[in-house]
Amino acid sequence: MTTDNIRKNFPLLQQMDTIYLDNAATAQRPSCVLVAVQEFYEQKNANPLRGFYPLSLEATESYQEARKTVQEFIHAEEPEEIIFTRNTTESLNLVAYSYGLNFLKEGDEIAVTIMEHHSNLLPWQMVSRMTGAKLHYLECTSEGELTDEELQKGINERTRLVAVTQVSNVLGCVNPIQKITEMAHRVGAVVVVDGAQSVPHMPVDVQALDADFLAFSGHKLMGPMGIGCLYGKRELLEKMPPFLTGGEMIDSVYRDGAVFAPQKFEAGTVNAAGAVGLAAAIRYLQEKGFDYIQKKELELTQRAMEGLGALPYVHILGSKDPANHTGIVSFTIDGVHPHDVSEILSSDGIDVRAGHHCAQPLLEYLGVRSSTRASMMFYNTPEEIDALIESVSTIRRRMGYGE
Ligand code: PLP
Repeated sequence: MTTDNIRKNFPLLQQMDTIYLDNAATAQRPSCVLVAVQEFYEQKNANPLRGFYPLSLEATESYQEARKTVQEFIHAEEPEEIIFTRNTTESLNLVAYSYGLNFLKEGDEIAVTIMEHHSNLLPWQMVSRMTGAKLHYLECTSEGELTDEELQKGINERTRLVAVTQVSNVLGCVNPIQKITEMAHRVGAVVVVDGAQSVPHMPVDVQALDADFLAFSGHKLMGPMGIGCLYGKRELLEKMPPFLTGGEMIDSVYRDGAVFAPQKFEAGTVNAAGAVGLAAAIRYLQEKGFDYIQKKELELTQRAMEGLGALPYVHILGSKDPANHTGIVSFTIDGVHPHDVSEILSSDGIDVRAGHHCAQPLLEYLGVRSSTRASMMFYNTPEEIDALIESVSTIRRRMGYGE
C-alpha cells in the first residue's frame, strides 16, 4: 500500500496545495466517510428511534449498527455501553455532570494529570467547586512520564475519581492507563480516560484497560464533526442520572415525573448520519490496520524529530523517544514566538498549530507559554516532513537572527 494510493482516498488532500500537519486538531476524511453520510441522507433519512414505518426503522438500524461498530472497535462488552455524543468534550461533561455531581462529595479527591486538555480538566474543576471534592494534580516529568511515586502519592484512599488522558495532545506521550486503573480500583475510585488522541492511532481495548469511562471524538479519527462517543461500564451508567432530558430518552412521562429508558443519555434527535460516518471511518482504519498506521506514523515522527532535533535552537517537548509521541511533535524555537513560527510555516504552505493547545496548566508547568505543534497521520509523507524541517531551518534567519 503506497501513501499515494492512500492519499487518493482523501478528496481534500488531493485538492489542497498546503501540507496538512494539524491532524491532532482534526483529521482529514476519506471519501468512504463522505459517501456514507451522503447515502444516509439520500436513502435512509427519517428520524431514527421514533417511527414504526420502514424508513425510520432503517435509519434506526443504521444508527444501532454504528454503535455496534464502535463497541467492537474499542472492545466494549455490550453496545449499550456506547453513548453517542457530539465530541470528547461533551462525553467528559456528561460524566462530570451525571457521575461527578452525584457521587462525589466534600472530603473526596479528584486526581487529574497536569497534562489534561482543558476538556478533561474544566469539568472536574466544576465538580470540585460544586461538591467540595478536592482537585489533586498528578504531575509528570519533563518527558511526560507519570512516575509510580507520583501516582502512589496522588491516588489514595480519599480519591474517588481519576481523570487521565491516554495520549497527551501536546507531548504525544502514552500514559499507563492499565496501571492507573489498577491503582484507582484498589482504593475504590473510577477512572475517566480521555481517548481523543489515542483511539485514532492505536488499538484501544476498554476491557483490557479496565477503564470505567472513555471519551473520544469522531472528527479526530477521520469521521464527521459533531459525533463523539462515551464508553461507560454498564453498572456505572445504570446508576447515573441523565445529563440532558427531553425526547427519546424516556419510557414514560407523567405530569409529575418520568421513567427513563435505558438509552437515557441520548436526549433529542440523534446524529445518526454522523454515527454512520464514524462507523465508516472506523472500518477504513481497520482496513488499513493499526500495524500499518503505527509503523507509518512512527517513521514520520522519527524523521521529524531527527530533522528538527538537529537544529540547535529548536527544542522538542516531551520524550526523546519518537515511539512515545504518537505522531505529535511540539517544539519551541529560541527567540521566535510560536505564532510567528506558524505564520512563517503557513507562508511556506505548511499547516501547523501554535499556542497553548488547550493545555495551559501543562505548558505553564513545563515553563513555556506556548509551542508550535506538528501532528501527523499515516497519510502524510516523508517529503512533507522534509519540507517542514527545511522551512523551520530558515525561520530564525527570516526573523533577523544570523542563522
Ligand atoms: N482531549 C484531547 C486530548 C484533545 O486533544 C482534544 C482536542 O483537541 C479534546 C479532548 C477535545 O476534543 P473535542 O474538541 O473534539 O471535544
